[in-house]
Parts: sequence; structure tokens; C-alpha cells
Amino acid sequence: MKKKKTRRQQTIRCPYCGAIADLRPASEIYGDPNAEGVLFVCRNYPGCKSYVHVYPGTNRPMGPLANGDLRHLRIVAHRKFDLIWQKGVMSRQQAYRWMADFFCIPLREAHIGQFSEYRCQELIRKCDVVLQKNRIAS
Ligand SMILES: [Zn+2]
Repeated sequence: MKKKKTRRQQTIRCPYCGAIADLRPASEIYGDPNAEGVLFVCRNYPGCKSYVHVYPGTNRPMGPLANGDLRHLRIVAHRKFDLIWQKGVMSRQQAYRWMADFFCIPLREAHIGQFSEYRCQELIRKCDVVLQKNRIAS
């Protein structure tokens, strides 16, 4: 008999220090008893500040673990990108299309929350050019 459903939990490793990442409650990491869900957290946490969310109701990580710098970079990139459609340079839909085309990726992969450091930096640079041309302070 085949047991298809019982897939072994894959080992997730931290891309920064190579340690194994364990599932831990988000409340523990955020120090907030109301925080819901679980995270994959590097075993060297908090020495290594890397973790990643899982898709709700699963043990599937949303992407590679990210450290504090990368998380910060994603926030900056998202803020600048959002300005482009919030200030009406393009519609929100157009802005996502524009971003996907820039990276030559399908629209469904155009999620800043999953971007690498490199992609975030490229997006920030690209957004800065657009914002400057449209005289929008960022
Ligand atoms: Zn680590």
C-alpha cells in the first residue's frame, strides 16, 4: 500500500549560517502572545536573525529564510513600489505588470515579500528613477 499523504518534512536550512531551521510559534519570536501562526526559525536565532513565515495552515515556508537586513530591504522596496501606484503614476495592476516585466518573471512571482536582496535593491533603484521623474518624494 502506498502512503502518499505522509510526506516527510523537508529539512529547511538557513541560507546565512547553514543551520537547520525549526518550526516555532510566531508568538515566541515576536514576543507577542497574540501573534498567530508558526515560522521556520534558524537554530542559531537570535544570534542569526533569520526566519520565514509558512503558508497559513501548512508547514510550507513562503520562501527562503530572511534575516533582518533583507526584511528591512523588502519593507523599503515595498514602500517605494506602493508609492508608484498610490500616487497614480500607474494603476496598481499596471505597476505589478511593470515590475514582473522588469524582472522577466510571471506576475504570480511578483511578490516583494519573497524577493532576494538583489531583487529588492534592483527594484528600489528602478522605483527611485520613476519616482524622481514624476517628482514624487520618497
Ligand atoms: Zn542562520
